[in-house]
Amino acid sequence: MDMEPPRIHRLDEAVVNRISAGEVIQRPLSAVKELVENSLDAGSTSISVTLKDGGLKLIQVSDDGHGIRYEDLPILCERHTTSKLSKFEDLQCIKSMGFRGEALASMTYVGHVTVTTITEGQLHGYRTTYRDGLMEHEPKPCAAVKGTQIMIENLFYNMTARRKTLQNSADDYPKIVDLTCRFAIHHKSVSFSCRKHGATRADVHSVATSSRLDAIRSVYGLSVAQQLMIVEASDDDPLSSIFKMEGLMSNFNYTAKKATVVLFINDRLVECGALKRAIEIVYAATLPKASKPFIYLSIKLPPEHIDVNVHPTKREVSLLKQEVIIEKIQSVIESKLRNSNESRTFQEQQRIDSTSSVSMTESKDSLSHPSPSGSRSQKVPVHKMVRTDSQDPAGRLHAYLQIKPCSNHKGSSLLTSVRSSVRQRRNPRETADLSSIQQLTKEIDSGCHSELQDIVGHCTYIGMADDVFALLQHNTHLYLVNVVNLSKELIYQQVLRRFAHFTAIQLSNPAPLPELIMLALKEEDLDPEGNEDAELKEKIAEMNTELLKQKAELLEEYFGIHIDSSGNLSRLPIVLDQYTPDMDRVPEFILCLGNDVEWEDERTCFQTIAAAIGNFYAFHPPLLPNPSDNGLKFYKRDPSDGHEMRDTAKNSDSVKEDIDHELLSEAENAWAQREWSIQHVLFPSMRLFLKPPTSMATNGTFVKVASLEKLYKIFERC
Ligand code: ADP
Ligand code: MG
Repeated sequence: MDMEPPRIHRLDEAVVNRISAGEVIQRPLSAVKELVENSLDAGSTSISVTLKDGGLKLIQVSDDGHGIRYEDLPILCERHTTSKLSKFEDLQCIKSMGFRGEALASMTYVGHVTVTTITEGQLHGYRTTYRDGLMEHEPKPCAAVKGTQIMIENLFYNMTARRKTLQNSADDYPKIVDLTCRFAIHHKSVSFSCRKHGATRADVHSVATSSRLDAIRSVYGLSVAQQLMIVEASDDDPLSSIFKMEGLMSNFNYTAKKATVVLFINDRLVECGALKRAIEIVYAATLPKASKPFIYLSIKLPPEHIDVNVHPTKREVSLLKQEVIIEKIQSVIESKLRNSNESRTFQEQQRIDSTSSVSMTESKDSLSHPSPSGSRSQKVPVHKMVRTDSQDPAGRLHAYLQIKPCSNHKGSSLLTSVRSSVRQRRNPRETADLSSIQQLTKEIDSGCHSELQDIVGHCTYIGMADDVFALLQHNTHLYLVNVVNLSKELIYQQVLRRFAHFTAIQLSNPAPLPELIMLALKEEDLDPEGNEDAELKEKIAEMNTELLKQKAELLEEYFGIHIDSSGNLSRLPIVLDQYTPDMDRVPEFILCLGNDVEWEDERTCFQTIAAAIGNFYAFHPPLLPNPSDNGLKFYKRDPSDGHEMRDTAKNSDSVKEDIDHELLSEAENAWAQREWSIQHVLFPSMRLFLKPPTSMATNGTFVKVASLEKLYKIFERC
């Protein structure tokens, strides 16, 4: 029987809206954050949050801000209605926390929203309710006190799965309390409270104050406030970075089970995984008991240096010159800690102390003036930097980045030497390891092809030309570059740079090594069913497992690869932030660790392990063929015979075929995810970190395809 192709139809708008609403409002916590930010944007001095059932039954946020005009109520909750942004360019200098007009609208798609508000000079307020973006009835006059009260009831009532998961897990209440505390520290002149519905006492209650320390004391208590020191850093050299930072950080007396890092960038509460990790590393390396910090930082950057629009919930931001800034903050914190700690723990003569204890502003000079030997970067004022890629808001900032090998390098080598001196004291054996790593990283520097580095450092990513090659523009030239080769090299280099300082990707299920190795061996094998060498394979698997178990300590400590005592792989290192490698390649990787690593010579050992990780983490095309080109055939199946599902040639134009939708959507996801990561993770990191080896100039990694000048000339002639 002929089967007709399924009809393609446009999704119901309400469904589309609900899907995207679920991205903006992921859980009660995110709804509260949006509502509190709206209240702050409205100039409130007092904000109170009330919750029932962790926010699932009820979230209520009341403020004393400027209120909402009667005329605006009908469109208040439509998507993309905002009072804060009108042109795209405004995004570059946005000061308010909201700007997309998406939050309230989203809430109406996943919950029941009631708004009560009064504006200055009115005798009464108005109340109305919203659903699916629309006002449900005329606003009704009502009594109201100054400001706005927004109530969300039955969050996710129409998203059964989400609601169930949230109901089954611990509720968001403690997280929301924590969020309120964070806001209270930063917005010290606003008073915040957070309570459970019906409770007479609030769990957080901050009083507006002019002192940051008082604000911290009122929410986190005296025991925290007592142990804090002021920390400051700044830089205003357009060549290296422009920023101002002030904050409070815990001293060596402070003890806590987990780190608290409260970070505001341009008054926006954000997370920055890289900075958080950098800070934790400093504490762990500097204080004897590997203490966890409490730290509040407020960083101010020129608004055009920060991209607030990279994340649907605006939680993660992307910064211009992020690495330089992190490096600087790290070293100020480090010297603060060492100064305060010196008399207690380190009473010796280390040279490094004198360099690392100068304050940031003083040491700036030495950091920002690269030594004459390798200085290539020319000064370009921010407003003159050209933007060529308007389609790429996340890459946009990075595209301006100028790689400054010298200053960067100096900063990091200072830090490395401080760390190594700390490690040396703890464990003298480790020095040797570090020198071999230093040798390897030096080789990267000396083997770097400066022209290619200029290209990767200043290129604009245009798109993927096929599965392996990306198209780049650099000045007036177009290049095809092999992303597999480039990413392999980048990962290799980053593994060596992050050596012994990895954070972990936790596998949801620890994977037994023997099984992984067997899988890899079968994959390699042309005749997987053949039994004769099954025993041999098992033997190989067993031996390799034993070997890796013996090397587990080294793999864990230096490379963040965790193998437990029963021979399961349970953690992998994060090499590029926001990137997880393709887990289908784990078996091959484990086999490669067992077979290809030279364990005897220390330097070669580290080099081969880093190369194996590079191979594994590289941005290979997903194993499933790309459905957007000819690969679609792969997903057709013959209903009568499952075995022929992948027989592409035979059935290619038979009408009987049906598509294996599950597999297809898995493949589509994998490809889309990869493309996203190439643009938003690989290229930004490459611009910052990659030092292309000379071999790449000739091995086909870079192919110049056109020079725009010549193209223009050709067009002129036509
Ligand atoms: P955004 O904050 O991105 O503009 P929202 O959906 O969060 O979008 O809010 C839409 C608009 O509603 C805001 O631009 C603001 O004008 C108004 N608004 C929301 N909450 C409040 C409030 N608590 N007080 C005053 N106005 C508010
Ligand atoms: Mg908002």
